[in-house]
Amino acid sequence: IIAAKKLGIALVGLGGYAGGQLAPALQETEHCYLAGIVTGTPQKAADWKTKYNIPDKNIYNYENFDQIIDNKDIDIVYVVLPNAMHCEYVIRAAKAGKHVICEKPMAITVEECDRMIAACKDAGKMLSIGYRLHFEPYNQEMMRLGTKKIFGEIKTIEAHDGMGDTNGWRLDKKLAGGGPLMDVGIYCVQGCRYTTGLEPIAVTAVEGPKTKPEKFKDVEESLDWTLEFPGGIKAHCKTSYTKNMNLLQANAEKGWFKLSPAYPYRGQQGETSEGKMNFPSVNQQARQMDDFALAILEGRATPVPGEMGRQDVKILQAIYKAMETKKRVEI
Ligand code: NDP
Repeated sequence: IIAAKKLGIALVGLGGYAGGQLAPALQETEHCYLAGIVTGTPQKAADWKTKYNIPDKNIYNYENFDQIIDNKDIDIVYVVLPNAMHCEYVIRAAKAGKHVICEKPMAITVEECDRMIAACKDAGKMLSIGYRLHFEPYNQEMMRLGTKKIFGEIKTIEAHDGMGDTNGWRLDKKLAGGGPLMDVGIYCVQGCRYTTGLEPIAVTAVEGPKTKPEKFKDVEESLDWTLEFPGGIKAHCKTSYTKNMNLLQANAEKGWFKLSPAYPYRGQQGETSEGKMNFPSVNQQARQMDDFALAILEGRATPVPGEMGRQDVKILQAIYKAMETKKRVEI
């Protein structure tokens, strides 16, 4: 009975991620579909209308977006804009009576996250963050091995996520909120949290040297940080916009378990001290969106709620404070 209704999703911001990953994933989803778009670029509206068969009445721009309140086809608004725009559009979506998915990082300050959570709560709508890896089997195995203590207590974690290059708004602190930490380092924070099932209590951090100072005027080029967790667990993390890295490894009392690469859209590889992991390849984004649609239809909580996004933003802010003050910062 539940599966009979597919919820309509409207994507807001038709950039690389919406066009390259989310729209294709929405062709595979069972409980939701691509019903509408919100874009500031008229040519994209025309192209998407044809490509995905989207009716004119479901196409909005940033000015008339609030009229989506009257559109019965749209159940969920998915905000895929630059980081600093998430807050405004999540709140406008909630006020228009829609459930919301917001891309990571949830926002650029904790205060914004609080306002986003409150807006969705006031509207009686659900809010989730685009944490696709919670629906990916290799990362789910890291969660199982760590939280069920299959190799005993975790002692240390190594989490590295870096890209060889980037451009555009990601280099602009006003729109991005910071550098690679906000964009990809966040996956290391997530990986440490879901592998241990614990919350970090303190952090130290060191900014890397700027090898391209003209490019990284506004944001860090790279950053190393160490999170302390309860029980003395130390997580050593690294992020960069000039070096490709992709690792999540836990070293425990009786063995180790790791993914490398850990965070891509597909192609995860996993291994433990006892041998190779072997899981099916899935469409992470399709699973993530289907799970949110089902959570709405079933009236249950999402495993990746706004509160999880807020906690990550809180940790990211503590990492930046540790970087700037060169002191250990309690979280
Ligand atoms: P892009 O730059 O490719 O796209 C952003 C889109 O936002 C633009 O194409 C544009 O769409 C719209 N936009 C509106 N105002 C601005 C502005 N001032 N500057 C730039 N763009 C603007 O970014 P991504 O798609 O890579 O990232 C979008 C969000 O998704 C980010 O928060 C990012 O962190 C997240 N993301 C998440 C991933 C994941 O794996 N979960 C992967 C990649 C990104 P239009 O022309 O339609 O108005």
